[in-house]
Amino acid sequence: MKNIPFASFRPMERELGAEMRDAFARVLERSFYIGGPEDRAFEEAFAAWNGVPFCVGTGNGLDALMLILKALGIGPGDEVIVPSDTFIATALAVTYTGARPVFAEPRLSTFNLDPDRLEALITPRTRAILPVHLYGQTCEMDPILEIAGRHGLPVVEDCAQAHGALYKGRKAGTFGVAAAFSFYPGKNLGALGDAGAVITSDPALAAKVRALGNYGSDVKYHHIYQGHNSRLDEIQAALLSVKLPHLERMNESRRETARKYLDGIRNPQVILPAVLPECTPVWHIFGVRCRRRAELEKWLDSRGIGTNKHYPVPIHLQECYRDLGFSRGAYPVAEEISETELSLPMYYGMTDEETGRVIDAVNSFA
Ligand SMILES: *Cc1c(COP(=O)(O)O)cnc(C)c1O
Repeated sequence: MKNIPFASFRPMERELGAEMRDAFARVLERSFYIGGPEDRAFEEAFAAWNGVPFCVGTGNGLDALMLILKALGIGPGDEVIVPSDTFIATALAVTYTGARPVFAEPRLSTFNLDPDRLEALITPRTRAILPVHLYGQTCEMDPILEIAGRHGLPVVEDCAQAHGALYKGRKAGTFGVAAAFSFYPGKNLGALGDAGAVITSDPALAAKVRALGNYGSDVKYHHIYQGHNSRLDEIQAALLSVKLPHLERMNESRRETARKYLDGIRNPQVILPAVLPECTPVWHIFGVRCRRRAELEKWLDSRGIGTNKHYPVPIHLQECYRDLGFSRGAYPVAEEISETELSLPMYYGMTDEETGRVIDAVNSFA
């Protein structure tokens, strides 16, 4: 029997490969590689797809986040509230500005920021709240926005895993002052390399993010900021433009797989992710929890099923953040997730047979 990988690009490549080769040929023919028509076309299309006026392409998702924070003037001495359970990039974006990440615990059931524990973390130094729509399910935006609004704090959304996810019918990335997207190949909308974007409805913020990502330059060779080099290149933009019209359909394929998992997995040892009624996730990751995770992982592996862990070491216990001074026990919910979460195969184009085999394998774990 064929192995079922944790993730695969193959179905996407089979369908869109020819179109992507054409897009590459078009860029090569034009002989223009950075800051040209492909970049502008994708930015316009992605802004429209999200229903916002502005999109600025960046080199990757981490930079997109960092550039937003810098554009908001956040720096040394400031605090930014981030979830304790997320990919390291969310915290790095904060520390790259010189600000300090303040960790907020998630809910165990949804893996997303727990609004009930948010307000207690706000201090006079807090400059922004940075919710992450983890695994493709949006955070509880109403209470988060309510708390942020009461304290006059901007909300910056990390949408790296949530292209097209909905909260009360509205797209992730349209709630805060700006949102960062990653187009890392494995994300729901992935380039064939590194790429990212910022979306916003604020023209001044968009212009500042664009300048900051282009050497701090508004007009060529005039530098108003000590900026960065983080731009979306023409080749990645052209490839993303090929994929964008298929994103909704590809997200739907993931939703179909998730529905089958949620309906079919019946094992008292395996806790399924909670989906809030107001959320329509895009299932970047399908994460279950299991006390005997290592054994479940081995069991699935022995049946040819690939899995992954998101994330095995919580950020506050990472070597690189030793100077923040946290030890085990500081964020028990994040630690619990890091010890029990297992991600099941999830990608565009998974077949019924594959999904069924994963379900059977999980259900037969004794
Ligand atoms: C992938 C990811 C990022 C960073 O994106 P890159 O394009 O890899 O820099 C940021 N935040 C989250 C939650 C991510 O999953």
